Amino acid sequence: MAKIQSLRGMNDLLPADSSLWQYLERIVSDVLSRYGYQEIRFPILEQTELFKRSIGEVTDIVEKEMYTFDDRNGESVTMRPEGTASCVRACMQNSLLDNQQIQRLWYAGPMFRYERPQKGRLRQFHQIGVETFGIASADIDAEIIMMTARLWKELGIEEHVSLQLNSIGSLQARADYRQALVDYLQQHFDKLDEDSQRRLESNPLRILDSKNADTQVLLDGAPLLADYLDEDSQQHFAKLKSLLDTAGINYEVNPRLVRGLDYYNKTVFEWITDQLGAQGTVCAGGRYDGLVEQLGGKSTPAIGFGMGIERLCLMLQELKVLPDTISAAPDVYFVVAGEKAELSAFQLSEQIRDTLPGLKLQLHCGGGSFKSQFKKADKSGARIALVMGDNEAEQGLVNIKWLRKEVEGEQPEGESGQQTVENNVVAEKLAEIF
Ligand code: ATP
Ligand code: MG
Repeated sequence: MAKIQSLRGMNDLLPADSSLWQYLERIVSDVLSRYGYQEIRFPILEQTELFKRSIGEVTDIVEKEMYTFDDRNGESVTMRPEGTASCVRACMQNSLLDNQQIQRLWYAGPMFRYERPQKGRLRQFHQIGVETFGIASADIDAEIIMMTARLWKELGIEEHVSLQLNSIGSLQARADYRQALVDYLQQHFDKLDEDSQRRLESNPLRILDSKNADTQVLLDGAPLLADYLDEDSQQHFAKLKSLLDTAGINYEVNPRLVRGLDYYNKTVFEWITDQLGAQGTVCAGGRYDGLVEQLGGKSTPAIGFGMGIERLCLMLQELKVLPDTISAAPDVYFVVAGEKAELSAFQLSEQIRDTLPGLKLQLHCGGGSFKSQFKKADKSGARIALVMGDNEAEQGLVNIKWLRKEVEGEQPEGESGQQTVENNVVAEKLAEIF
């Protein structure tokens, strides 16, 4: 019988990696809550129309990347390819945006895009997203960028990411620019790569971030979006840059940064790294003042970003910037053989867990000789083994054994690698060690 495998581009998260993910999620949610952001959760499945109307019909995502199907009722539904549209829908539906309320929100979870799987690019990937609503001024743009900068610092990767920044102006400015760009590129149509030729009709601004070298050369002579910016967007961008300058945050203005989704305006930004090959964007976002209205709500200024958890985890691993404390290994492995010992060890383990809630104590289950249990204790990565046989159990004693002799200073001076203590002081002893 053929073995059933997971779908291509959809990975399992195995125990060996889950503590890394938990660490990342912990740091992120901690930093976000320190800035006053609150978590929101919304469904993975939504009406297809939500994404069509928000992301835009002629974007890569909607044209060819969505997991869309009819449910049993014949309604077209889509596995969310990103979080912003759902977040806006949830906020509108639950009156979180009424009366110009300000919201600072974040979410985390799986997103689905039918892409070509490769390193850092999956079909089920995971994002942490941040969205703010109700603030039109550039201070919030600066705040969320500063917040991401702090995040990189706390994760220890700040030397390996850099900020790309641009303003794509108002809808009108982009429409004017779009015309100028199309006029220019039309004159050089033959020199454009195939994808860009197709996009010239449907979504010409996307040609700006074409990866094709010849197209990039052609773009050197193209009109600049910056020259078409409306007054309001120019001022907004100037304010943002001065706030970032004051905060000491380095950035590079990239006039060709446009982002792949239709709903952005004014500020767009990406944090990129050279650590991940072609999949170098770890965090990307921008302002989307028109989206709420576009989805049937009252005009509401908004800005947000999403970051890829897989890409960040790859970076943390490759840069080896993980603290030892994220190890999933137990601190203590309790080796126990004999019937009396088993009973006593169960009791003692619970007592220790009551006294030392921070300690990771793994009690051996499943029996077996001392020898085989010690092998397991060693393999578990624990620093200490507690050892109890029926003899010890009868006397109310337990042995503390240091398992990591190779760690310098680990085993106390003059100790034989083992110490026998009474049950009622073992927690105290362990507290000294950990
Ligand atoms: P890319 O240009 O790499 O395709 P994108 O512009 O499509 O990215 P966004 O929609 O802005 O990406 O999503 C925000 C972040 O989510 C990206 O910067 C990236 O870190 C991550 N991401 C996007 N698509 C994938 C994917 N298929 N697999 C893994 N991570 C992804
Ligand atoms: Mg993409």
